[in-house]
Amino acid sequence: MGEYEEVRVEHDFGGKIRVHTDGGALEHMAEEVKQVNVDNGWFDDSRTFGDDIALLHSEVSEMLEAFRDFGVSDMTEKVDEEGDVIQIPKPEGVGAEAADVLVRLLDTCHRYDIDLFTEWRRKLDYNKTRGHKHGGKRL
Ligand SMILES: [Mg+2]
Repeated sequence: MGEYEEVRVEHDFGGKIRVHTDGGALEHMAEEVKQVNVDNGWFDDSRTFGDDIALLHSEVSEMLEAFRDFGVSDMTEKVDEEGDVIQIPKPEGVGAEAADVLVRLLDTCHRYDIDLFTEWRRKLDYNKTRGHKHGGKRL
């Protein structure tokens, strides 16, 4: 299985991830996403592939709405109305929504047994062969 190293991620309420030295971080992240989603009841009912895509789409749209409202600023409230520090504030802003997109993507790929890391590697290697703007595309 290779080796893992613990990497501390700095944010308001701390945390760390285990990074596989041969690039299996996504697999580990997907396992943690699944466990959180199981614990929160998101595997209690069946859903369709279309449901999963719609949920992924909704997070992408939330990312756009966050940008429209706040640019790329972190809008996480760190204190309540009384000025007391919120111990685990709800993350808000483009970055938080980008994280939701990743969580949704990892969840969907895990549900359908898609090896996202391998697919990412394969697609990026292919894109390296595609040339300037992938053959003249405008956007
Ligand atoms: Mg969201």
